[in-house]
Amino acid sequence: MGTNVCVLASGSSGNCTLIHTDTTTILIDAGLPGKVAVERLLAADVHPSDIDAILITHEHTDHVSGLGTLSRALDIPVYASEATWKALDANPRVCGPVREKNKRVIAAGELFNVKDLAIQPFPVPHDAAGPLGYCIIDGARKVGIATDAGHATQEMKQQLADCDLLVIEANHDVEMLMVGSYPWALKRRILSDLGHLSNEAAGEFLGSIVTERTSNILLAHLSKENNLPELALLTVIAILRLNGIAVGKDLRVGLTYRNRMTRPIKIEKGYCKVC
Ligand SMILES: [Zn+2]
Ligand SMILES: [Zn+2]
Repeated sequence: MGTNVCVLASGSSGNCTLIHTDTTTILIDAGLPGKVAVERLLAADVHPSDIDAILITHEHTDHVSGLGTLSRALDIPVYASEATWKALDANPRVCGPVREKNKRVIAAGELFNVKDLAIQPFPVPHDAAGPLGYCIIDGARKVGIATDAGHATQEMKQQLADCDLLVIEANHDVEMLMVGSYPWALKRRILSDLGHLSNEAAGEFLGSIVTERTSNILLAHLSKENNLPELALLTVIAILRLNGIAVGKDLRVGLTYRNRMTRPIKIEKGYCKVC
């Protein structure tokens, strides 16, 4: 028993997260080449044919580049908002075709099920057509995922409060971004309300949603140019401590990676175990 979470990749070069229980296996986003996704699934002890569904957050290439290949090979349902499907249909080269019979339209606020998992999609502010974050609920266990969010909304706080495990974006350090080599227009986009969450913003957000139940936080979508893994960790942990949240034995804060998978994390009743 338990809910298992493994982030197979996270960042602007590809995003894919595996969540599986004894009965149900899903992927959140499919931004890895098919071959790499399969290798990492096998390394996480999951056979690709076990995947029941793919949930898409939004249509940006780093979240869907492997979607067409994977969904056609596995012939499984793919869930995305209506606006995301429209954007993908308007630009089919982003991920290649998904079979019509496998397209499922979901809407923010409307709970749905994939076998034994209840999934709650919610809106996130990002410069995409209809971006979503997800809470995945397996009985008593709750996993929350929100990346690619320009700021933390009240609704995100409500949805993501009291999760066992959180995957939250810590994209950039604001000073590194400001003095870095990105063109000004791109800097403005990243810093905007529809861009990406900074380390500080992630820390403040996490400080408002972590509860005694929360035992694991994974920082996601770190920028290669405008962040350092240690800086993201130290910033978030410092802000959590300022908010009176003790990071250590009962609450772990860890990283996700652009070029490799995290260690699988198993959530059992009341605690998370890093396998
Ligand atoms: Zn992204
Ligand atoms: Zn994006």
